[in-house]
Amino acid sequence: MTSFSPPRSGSDSFDDDFESGEEVGVDSDPLEQIARSLLVEIGEDPDRDGLRETPARYARWWREFIDYDPGKIETSFHSVSSDQLIEVSGIRVWSLCEHHLLPFWCDVSIAYVARNKILGLSKFARIAHKHAHRLQVQERLTAGIADSVQEFTGSPDVAVRARGEHLCMTMRGVRTSADMSTSVLRGDFERNAELRTRLSS
Ligand SMILES: [Zn+2]
Repeated sequence: MTSFSPPRSGSDSFDDDFESGEEVGVDSDPLEQIARSLLVEIGEDPDRDGLRETPARYARWWREFIDYDPGKIETSFHSVSSDQLIEVSGIRVWSLCEHHLLPFWCDVSIAYVARNKILGLSKFARIAHKHAHRLQVQERLTAGIADSVQEFTGSPDVAVRARGEHLCMTMRGVRTSADMSTSVLRGDFERNAELRTRLSS
């Protein structure tokens, strides 16, 4: 226990991930100062047990979220048979709503008609996560993924659908759990109803 220990309010069992005991110093991440100010503003003591390392964790979390590296996306293979419909579903991503800074998750399905390039399966998840790791709205997330899939596959025929739950709806406001669905249809997916029926529902 250091000399900075604040008065304890009741028992506190959250010391298990207490890390370094550093204070916020001149070299600290500005996000730490913001987190300390936030804690003070909501009536908390940032120096009490349990909160002392919270500003540093908060800053680390934001840096990890924003500096997310999706890895290599652009590797593709030559496709022998073209005009195949390729679909990858169930890609769960987490993002942050730019209106409330609250999380939302989306299950993303990506489909495209292969021309002469096919992308490795893991690339679709990387593309989706890359677009999710910034402040977003679900419509732009869906459109951004479609843009990248068009770019990396060289196919104009791309369909991206996302179904998600937004904590800004579930935790606040109307406080009901509701799914939001968005879809972007490009190329033949827009023009050809028969092709759309081949998408898994
Ligand atoms: Zn929101």
